[in-house]
Amino acid sequence: MDQDLKLSSPEKKDYDKIAMWLLNLECNFKCPYCFFDDSQRSLKTRVADWLRGKVPAINPYKTRFITPEKIGQFFDDTEKKWWVVISGGEPFVYPRFVEIVKRLSQKHMVTIGTNLGLSIDKFIEEVSPENIWSFYVSMHLAERERQGLTVDDLLEKVKRLRDAGFRVEINYVMYPPDIKRFPAIFEQFKKEGFILEARAFRGTYEGKIYPKAYDEEERKIFQDYIPSEVDRVASFESLSFMDVPCTAGKNLIRIRPDGSITRCPHDRENLGNMFEKKLNLHEKVKPCAVPYCKCTLAIKEGCVDFGKRK
Ligand code: SF4
Ligand code: SF4
Repeated sequence: MDQDLKLSSPEKKDYDKIAMWLLNLECNFKCPYCFFDDSQRSLKTRVADWLRGKVPAINPYKTRFITPEKIGQFFDDTEKKWWVVISGGEPFVYPRFVEIVKRLSQKHMVTIGTNLGLSIDKFIEEVSPENIWSFYVSMHLAERERQGLTVDDLLEKVKRLRDAGFRVEINYVMYPPDIKRFPAIFEQFKKEGFILEARAFRGTYEGKIYPKAYDEEERKIFQDYIPSEVDRVASFESLSFMDVPCTAGKNLIRIRPDGSITRCPHDRENLGNMFEKKLNLHEKVKPCAVPYCKCTLAIKEGCVDFGKRK
């Protein structure tokens, strides 16, 4: 192909509003530190997937499934350009996911958070990178290997995505048993032009509470690879913007698997429902009304002034 004609992810973010869409809770992985704790998850995901066509009522996570046309129309009807940041669960297990992204990316910018444990062949064949801001790939090392997948598989996949023109960002969760392997895997990816981002683990391991329990040696291994000042502070401190003006609710929304729309992941103020085609955005900027904020995306995109944190 003529190199000048090769399509790629956009160079600059171009959007009016952000939708953080928690698409589903179903997942092919079951990481021990997952925010959604369910030891039967892989089994439930597979059984529900198999049964869905026959008995739609069997839906253990109450995820409602939307069609590509309906979700495309929902955002188009707002007459704004959205940056739709999709996460899960694992988005690639959602029915017609590739078509959903294809439809959304006709007019809106899309980011996909994924463990890349499933096939990406159809995605690469059918979706143009022009309006795909990025793939945000999570390594989840121990669970990946428990699934019989390898670091080399992941490297091959991210190279294929990059060759197809997609921007790829990769993060590595600093789960205590995985920390020691980080430097070698970091170098392996660096040689291929990828810089891994470190993400601090929040939770309990062997009776110790993290991130507080990281010792100096562990921190030294990864702290320089936390990608930004906002991420660094959010990794180790509790942030609060209570009473500080925040444009979430006006310029940013959170959509949950049942279609309900709230101001952000922490403030559950009801702003409508995607399935009912209802969206009631704030007309004015309002103060933050909840005591804690872990929404680094909202902070980094300037919804709230990071300097005013409490
Ligand atoms: S890949 Fe993500 S959603 Fe799936 S189990 Fe792991 S942390 Fe949870
Ligand atoms: S500051 Fe954070 S928690 Fe508060 S409204 Fe904004 S995004 Fe939500």
